[in-house]
Formats: sequence, C-alpha cells, structure tokens
Amino acid sequence: MLSIHPSVDGGLKPAASGFAGGTLSCQCKQNPVQVTIKGQCAHNHVCGCTKCWKPKGALFSQVAVVPRDNVKVSAGADKLKAVDAAAAIQRHACKDCGVHMYGRIENKARPFYGLDFIHTELSKDSGWAPAEFAAFVPSIIESGAKPDQIGAVLSRLRELKLEPYDCLSPPLMDAIATHVAKSKGVH
Ligand SMILES: [Zn+2]
Ligand SMILES: [Zn+2]
Repeated sequence: MLSIHPSVDGGLKPAASGFAGGTLSCQCKQNPVQVTIKGQCAHNHVCGCTKCWKPKGALFSQVAVVPRDNVKVSAGADKLKAVDAAAAIQRHACKDCGVHMYGRIENKARPFYGLDFIHTELSKDSGWAPAEFAAFVPSIIESGAKPDQIGAVLSRLRELKLEPYDCLSPPLMDAIATHVAKSKGVH
C-alpha cells in the first residue's frame, strides 16, 4: 500500500478549535531537540520536493508554517545544524538523527519571510490543522518514485481530498507573485 505520509494515510484529522500549539521533538531517544510552537499552524500540506524532511517510507513530507516569533528551541539547541546555510529556507536539523526541526527564511526580501516551516507530526499534541493540498507532486520522481506510480499517487491524493499541484497551491503561488510584483513596484 502506497504511503503518502503517515499523518494522512489513515485520513485527515480535523484541527482542534482554539488549539494552543505543542512541542516538536526530534527522533533521538536521548536528549531530543525540542521546539515549542505557540498557536496553530497554517497552510499545512504534503510536499513532494527533495528538500523537505520525510519520515522513512513516505513519498511526501508534511510541512506547515507558523510565525517565526512563535517558534522557540526549548531543548538541545546545540545539536541543531543548518542543512544548507546558503538555501533560501535554512532547514535546521538534528545532527544526530537528521530530523529537520524548523526551516527559517533569513532574507527579508524573500516571499514568506517571517514564517517558519515545521513538521507537525513531530509533536504528540493532537489538534494541529491537517494538510490541505499536495505540493510539488512530480518531484517525488527525483526522490526515487517511479514515473508510472504517479497515476496511483494522484488518485490517492484526490481520495484524501489533497488536491495535487505541480508547485504550490494557487493562493500561495498568487501570494509569491504579489510579493514579487510589489518588490518590483508593479503594484
Ligand atoms: Zn535528534
Ligand atoms: Zn518541500
């Protein structure tokens, strides 16, 4: 059976109203890195790109955003290391288990600056807003999925009500284009 991602394979769980946030833990049995998130996440989605951290056996990652001020490393900060310090999104991963704890944009001119990227499945707290769509679907081929698997992946995503897109969802693509237009003085 095809695993899109463990958090969606069994169907989507609804967000809890008034959800206050939770704590993300890496996979280290001892001294895990912990990141405390205040409040609910937004734009949660499954992502097929090759950069986001994926749990073992999953075709997609699951990634959401939260305001960067709501993200606090509460334990194990010394174990965090940027996966690629030159990337637009700096993904801070645990040096020991490799799990990405949060991704941060440091360049204020970039779209989505001010939002951190997190994987809510690293938290045992229930009530996180579930995934809403599937991004960068064709990119799973770059991570090893067979091109002839894509048909089955697309039908499974639609069955889960995760509309598949080649890039991000149209509202997020519009947000990026608006940001670019503003920075060029078009608007
Ligand atoms: Zn770890
Ligand atoms: Zn991704």
